[in-house]
Amino acid sequence: MTLRLGTQQDWPLNVMRLVDHAEREHGDREVVSAWADGSTSRTSWGEIARKARQMARALEKLGLGKGDRVATLAMNHERHLISWYGAIGMGGVLHTINPRLFPEQLAYIGNHAEDRVLLYDAMMKPLVDAMKPAWKTIEHYIVYDPPAGWEGDPSFEEWIGAEDDEFRWVEADERDPIGLCYTSGTTGNPKGVIYEHRGMVLHALAEVQPDCFDLGKRDCALPIVPMFHANAWGLPWAAPLVGCKLVLSADYSAKRMVDLFRDEKVTHSAGVPTIWVDMIAHIEKTGDTLDNLKTVTIGGSAAPRAMIKWFRSHGIEVGHAWGMTELSPIGSLAGKPAGWEDMSDEEQIEWTARQGRVPFGIEMRIVDDAGNVLPRDGKASGDLQVRGAWVIERYFKEDAPAIDADGWFSTGDVAALHPDGTMQITDRSKDVIKSGGEWISSIELENAAVGVDGVAEAACIGIFHPKWDERPLLVCVREEGHHVTGEEVLAGIRDQVAKWWLPDAVEFVDELPHTATGKLSKKTLREQFADYRFEGVEAMTGRD
Ligand code: ADP
Repeated sequence: MTLRLGTQQDWPLNVMRLVDHAEREHGDREVVSAWADGSTSRTSWGEIARKARQMARALEKLGLGKGDRVATLAMNHERHLISWYGAIGMGGVLHTINPRLFPEQLAYIGNHAEDRVLLYDAMMKPLVDAMKPAWKTIEHYIVYDPPAGWEGDPSFEEWIGAEDDEFRWVEADERDPIGLCYTSGTTGNPKGVIYEHRGMVLHALAEVQPDCFDLGKRDCALPIVPMFHANAWGLPWAAPLVGCKLVLSADYSAKRMVDLFRDEKVTHSAGVPTIWVDMIAHIEKTGDTLDNLKTVTIGGSAAPRAMIKWFRSHGIEVGHAWGMTELSPIGSLAGKPAGWEDMSDEEQIEWTARQGRVPFGIEMRIVDDAGNVLPRDGKASGDLQVRGAWVIERYFKEDAPAIDADGWFSTGDVAALHPDGTMQITDRSKDVIKSGGEWISSIELENAAVGVDGVAEAACIGIFHPKWDERPLLVCVREEGHHVTGEEVLAGIRDQVAKWWLPDAVEFVDELPHTATGKLSKKTLREQFADYRFEGVEAMTGRD
C-alpha cells in the first residue's frame, strides 16, 4: 500500500458552499431589492439559501438535471439571485441573457445554449413573447414579478412555493460548469463563456481582498452592474463569502441610486463610467449627499481622471477595475499601493487612473506583433495577454482553444505594464466601440455603410463622449462624382443595425489611412480624429 503523505481533507471549491456559509454564518444579513415598480423588499441570506433549495427541487420536478441550462432574462433583484444558486444547486448551468442584444442574437444564443427554462421579469414580456417562436429548446417560462391580474406564464414565487426546502445540492466536481454568459465580439455570432465552480470561488476570494473590492461583513454593497453582465462583476458571489449586506436594484436611475445609498447605508458600489456621469450630474444639481459611501469601483471602460477627482473630493475612494466577460470578469484593480499615504494628490490620482494590479490568480504580460514579450518598463505597449484561475480556456462548444500553447489569452486590449506592476490600457486592437458599457461592432457598421450608394469606403471609430464614454463616428470616402450626404448614409444603415448603434456623426475624407499591407489603419485614424468632438456635446467630465 502506498502511503498518502497528504493528511488534509478534500473540500472542493464549490459556489454552493458560498451560500451555505452565508446561511450558517450570517443568515440574517440582509439582501434588499429595489424593484422596477418603485417598491423595495427585504430578505436575508438564510432565506435566499432556503428558497434556492425550493427552486432546485422545482427544477428537478420539471425534469431538469445535471448540466442543463437555465436561462434568466432579468434585472437585479432577490429572485434573480435565488435563481443563480437554485439553478446551480440543482446541477444546472445558469445562462444570464443580456436583453440588450438584438433579436437575431437573442435567438442564436438561446438555441446555441440549448436553454430549457427561462425565468424573466414581467417588463421583458414583449421581448419574450416576440422571441418564443425563435427559441427552439425552451420548454418552460417562469415570470419573476407578475403584476396583479397577470395572465400568462407561472409566477416564480408560486412555482417554488409549492416545494419543500429539504433539497441537498447536487454533487459537483470543482471543474463542473456553473454559468454561461455570451459576449458579442467584433463580428458574427456572440460567443459563450462558461464559468466553473472552482474559478468562481477563487474569483470571489480575490475580490473581497483589501487591494481589490475591500469587502467585509460590516459593509453594504450595491452593484450598479446588471447580473446579466459578467456576473455583476462577481458581487453576488463575493457578498455571501464575507456576509456583507447586498442591495440589488432593477432601476439604475440616479435618484433611485442616491436614495438607496442613503436609506440602505451603502458603503461599496460598482459601475461603468456612464452610470457615475449621471449620478454626479444628479448630485451636483440636487445637492444630495453620499454620506455612507466609502468606495466606488469604476470599470468596464477607463475611469476618467475628472471622475476620480470628483469622488475623492467627496471623500470617496475609487477602485479602478479592468476586466472582461472572459475573465469572470476581474483582471486587475487599482487599490492602494504601499506608500500610498506618502504619495501626493496628483500621484494618487495618476495611480488610480491606471487599470491597477493583478490579484493573486491572474498573470499578465504584453507582447509585440511577433509575439515577443515586451518589458514591464512603463514605456513599451503591446497586446495585453492574461492567464489564470478564472480565465477562459475555450469558448462554449468551440473546439479550438482561445489561448496559446502556454495558456495566454489575448484580450484585444493594448497596454503598458509599469515597473510597479500597474497596467495601463493605451489602446484597443479589437474592432469594437464601447458605449455605456455595451459593445458596438465597428465592422458591422462599416459593412452596412459601404452598402449605401455613393460610399466607396468606410471606417468606424469610437469618439470620447461625456455620457456614454464612447460613441461611433463613421468616416467615409465618397465614390468619385458622388455627393452622398451624412444623413443619406445614416438613413441607408438605419434598418440594418440597432437604434443605439447608429453613429452620432458621419464625416467625409478624401482617403482613409492604410497600413503597408493595405489594411485600414484604425490606429492612425484614431490619431487623426483624437481631438474630434461631436457637435453640441459639452465635455462634462473629460478624460483628463
Ligand atoms: P466588462 O464590461 O464587464 O468589463 P466586457 O467583456 O463587456 O466586460 O468588456 C471587456 C473590455 O472592456 C476589455 O477588454 C476592455 O476593452 C474594456 N475595459 C474594461 N475595463 C476597462 C478599464 N478599466 N479601462 C479601459 N477599458 C476597459
